[in-house]
Amino acid sequence: MTTQQDCIALDAQDPLRDLRKLFTLPEATIYLDGNSLGVMPAAAPARVADVVTREWGTDLIQSWNKNGWFAMPQKVGDKIARLIGAAPGTVVATDSTSVNLFKVLSAAMNIVATDAPQRKQIVSERSNFPTDLYIAEALCKQHGMELVLVEPEDMAASLTANVAILMLTHVNYRTGAMHNMAAVTAAAHAEGILTVWDLAHSAGAVPVDLNQARADFAVGCGYKYLNGGPGVPAFVWVNTQHADRFWQPLAGWWGHATPFDFTPDYRPAPGITRYQCGTQPMISLAALECGVDTLLAAEAQGGMAALRSKSLALTDLFIQLVEERCAGHGLGLATPREHAQRGSQVCLTRDEGAYAIVQALIARGVVGDFRAGDGGLHKDILRFGFTPLYIGFEDVWNAVEQLKQVLETAEWQRPEFNRKHAVT
Ligand SMILES: *Cc1c(COP(=O)(O)O)cnc(C)c1O
Repeated sequence: MTTQQDCIALDAQDPLRDLRKLFTLPEATIYLDGNSLGVMPAAAPARVADVVTREWGTDLIQSWNKNGWFAMPQKVGDKIARLIGAAPGTVVATDSTSVNLFKVLSAAMNIVATDAPQRKQIVSERSNFPTDLYIAEALCKQHGMELVLVEPEDMAASLTANVAILMLTHVNYRTGAMHNMAAVTAAAHAEGILTVWDLAHSAGAVPVDLNQARADFAVGCGYKYLNGGPGVPAFVWVNTQHADRFWQPLAGWWGHATPFDFTPDYRPAPGITRYQCGTQPMISLAALECGVDTLLAAEAQGGMAALRSKSLALTDLFIQLVEERCAGHGLGLATPREHAQRGSQVCLTRDEGAYAIVQALIARGVVGDFRAGDGGLHKDILRFGFTPLYIGFEDVWNAVEQLKQVLETAEWQRPEFNRKHAVT
């Protein structure tokens, strides 16, 4: 049996423990929701204030040149590239994940329309994040294609000669299950299928190597494990082999080769810059850069590989303690035990009361979240994200202790924990 003393000892030996100082963590809170909205970097308020008061307030329009505003999407993109196995100059931080998905799916559809027009299907997982499915559905309507949704175990069999694109989220938002990106990409390529990867729950959470996996397109989120702040830009990467083949359809002036020539016709910039559309949000980009810098600060201690080791140790410990200390309360495990198949979150299931248990935990300072099931195969989920930059082993102990008390006292049954909020 693991004890609280064991957890304290693990924290004392943790080479990453000082990275916690890079964040402003609220008092008396164990924040297990960094997979949904990352914690604020301690550097962010001053940096954002400087962008507002000095760069905007004083330097005004000169900031586009003087303060590097114009190149911010590429500058932040280059930093993100270091976390996802991409080369410098191949990532831009821009727009939202949904919008970037629209761009890359459109580009992939253009490639297929030229190279293999008989392929008319996009395959994805039924439990993919809904916005990904909505964007794909809308584009399929526009292009006379079909979106085919499968369960993970049926994916391999669905990769047929009718399929144009395989669109997957690398780490599933509901279950925390992770695909083997290189193997899945190779299987798709063997059938002549392009791959689009969503890294929303991967970038900054698990090691990713887009180039080694020979992926075709990728998008990802800035406000989750990258700690960028609410609504900051997402990012987009395109394999250099595809980048210059087509325009993406949101052909705004920031994607033009020479925007300040103000020509009436569109000439796309080479490379990833053509994936920009209009004027980019400088205040948000500055906040995002602070977030990405917290991950790059771990490079001296081994970077993503070291973060991954700690993440697996934290999620292993959480699973073990829940099973040891909360047995008999109807909890199930939706996240794979196999390390190679697990992201940086643990998802528990319960037939009844999952939402209310999460609310009762939040009232006790343990912040996770709830994702509704579909009444069938996919159960209600209590979701806990583990960000090794600022979560420690004793935090895991304390979180499970609170969960145990919530279950043993049945306090989750109180009416105030059973009222649904707009955001769960
Ligand atoms: C969080 C998340 C998104 C969010 O998309 P937005 O456009 O930023 O709202 C998209 N896809 C996945 C898989 C996500 O987890």
